[in-house]
Amino acid sequence: MARTDHDSWDLASSVGATATGVAAGRALAARGPEPLLDDPYAEPLVRAVGLDAFTRMLSEDADEVADDPIFNRQQMAEQVTVRTRFFDDFFLRAGAAGIRQAVILASGLDTRAYRLPWPAGTVVYEIDQPQVIEFKTRTLAELGATPTAERRTVGIDLRADWSTALRERGFDPDQPTAWSAEGLLIYLPPQAQDRLFDDITALSAPGSALATEHVPDLSILADDDRMADFAQRWKRYGMADEWTDLVYQGERAQVPAYLSGAGWQVTARGTVDLYAANGFALPDHEMMTELADLTYISAVLSDPTPGR
Ligand code: SAM
Repeated sequence: MARTDHDSWDLASSVGATATGVAAGRALAARGPEPLLDDPYAEPLVRAVGLDAFTRMLSEDADEVADDPIFNRQQMAEQVTVRTRFFDDFFLRAGAAGIRQAVILASGLDTRAYRLPWPAGTVVYEIDQPQVIEFKTRTLAELGATPTAERRTVGIDLRADWSTALRERGFDPDQPTAWSAEGLLIYLPPQAQDRLFDDITALSAPGSALATEHVPDLSILADDDRMADFAQRWKRYGMADEWTDLVYQGERAQVPAYLSGAGWQVTARGTVDLYAANGFALPDHEMMTELADLTYISAVLSDPTPGR
């Protein structure tokens, strides 16, 4: 179903199901004698959501994924590992640099607040849709998981006034903050992406850090043949909606330039580079060569917007 201005979801529907899909990738990566990731909660969370296809992806006898060149289990695991390690390392570096306040935007089924070794005194805020936050909090409590930092949740739409809601939960704009927006931007309308970065900048004390991804060219989404192929593969894994319908297409700001213009010092790393750094090779498939353009961005605020 196409997006609307005030649509919302749980983890089994619309954009929420993409969070379950990513968690299924982490569950695969956390398996086996030599796991790529340490995320003991990913699999029980995916099973608790109960979306048939993602649960089935975790079952060894599901052979429909085995022959897919980009969505087979090993590729899914490697893809999610590259991304997860990038954001894990970002938060670990921020902690080592003395930052004690973190905000995970669009936290989905990410369990960093429960599994990273946060320095003592760190407060981690998680923001996502109310039903997503509520489900994860309840399910992890039922699993006996305990946060490794002080975890504070904000259930709100990121197209709404989330910054006021964050401050009401105790966020301190005078302290440097480590922010992540992982797997989020393409699900926001272009103007909401700009507002998100404006709000982050306005709430960021000097020395704050930000990590996100950037897809330089979303025009591939308008290529009907390729996207039909991609959507078809995605659908096989149980997405009720066409994935392309969930994404806001059309022109949007280039993330590195936008952040630089707001006073952030930006570093970009390409997908191919990060795959290699992790000892992986990007699958040799047309779809992946297009997606290889995705860059991972980290930025530090040295020059906050005047008048903040
Ligand atoms: N960051 C998580 C991860 O990597 O595992 C989840 C990524 S998932 C692809 C996209 C997430 O963005 C979902 O959890 C979804 O609920 C959240 N999201 C997208 N648009 C949002 C909005 N307008 N308000 C709140 N959350 C949103």
